[in-house]
Amino acid sequence: MWRGLIVLCLAAILLGGCTRAPVIDTRYSSQNHDSRVQYVILHYTSSDFDRALQHLTVGQVSSHYLIDTQPTIYRLVDEDRRAWHAGESSWQGRTWLNGSSIGIEIVHPGYTDGPAGRYWHPWSEAQIDVLIPLLKDILRRHGLGPEHVLGHSDVAPQRKVDPGPLFPWQRLAEAGVAVWPEAERVADNLRRLEGQTPPMAWFEEGLQQLGFSLQGAADQVVVSRNVLAAFQMRFRPSRFDGQPDVESAAILAALVPDLLNSALLCKSAENPSMPRSGAQWPHCTPDQPAW
Ligand SMILES: [Zn+2]
Repeated sequence: MWRGLIVLCLAAILLGGCTRAPVIDTRYSSQNHDSRVQYVILHYTSSDFDRALQHLTVGQVSSHYLIDTQPTIYRLVDEDRRAWHAGESSWQGRTWLNGSSIGIEIVHPGYTDGPAGRYWHPWSEAQIDVLIPLLKDILRRHGLGPEHVLGHSDVAPQRKVDPGPLFPWQRLAEAGVAVWPEAERVADNLRRLEGQTPPMAWFEEGLQQLGFSLQGAADQVVVSRNVLAAFQMRFRPSRFDGQPDVESAAILAALVPDLLNSALLCKSAENPSMPRSGAQWPHCTPDQPAW
């Protein structure tokens, strides 16, 4: 009889029938935990609703939410599941952000290239009107601040330009769901910079501190230019060619604490035009070694 039972159980093991769910005692729980979600990443679809829906439901990509032009908010992937929207991406040293973010796709054509150049399509107020409460709800539920709301171009500046230069980041910031530099700080920084554009190395330091990755397959000059262009597209979209300028510097310094105290602003062999010392540059000393 025993032999028969053993044979039966062995057969059942082979069929997977003798495996039992582990018994777990749940009487204790820790208070030390947070959400796995660290970022909310915004995208435009660059296609109409039907194509986007097809793409995001049966294609190779997905997002947690899709906002159409009506606008209706569709949930395509549960927030506790990983959607495939960010691809190769990085922010504040974290990489491959699909696992730590919520993706929101907004039905929007992006841009159209024509004989007169690139035309960026304007955003619909109605879509932003539904996006803001959605972001508020997501940030509240996951315990995140407005600095955790990013664009795809922020986390993949070498590959992506969505949500593009016309996206109303300032309006989102006024609603408490994005960051925006304080106008007074920008004006004060402009005064301190006295019209002088800092060197690219200073921009690179600030952009990295803000969260951007300066890694990329291309030449470092091209990689850095793409990152600065992504920054400009978001915070100073009137020009986003990735070339350093004093206004971009003032905005960057308004978002990154202490950036105007960086030694990279001191007069050096690489940076002969910046002031070496003075009331507004107390961190620069006359015998500071050249960079
Ligand atoms: Zn995208």
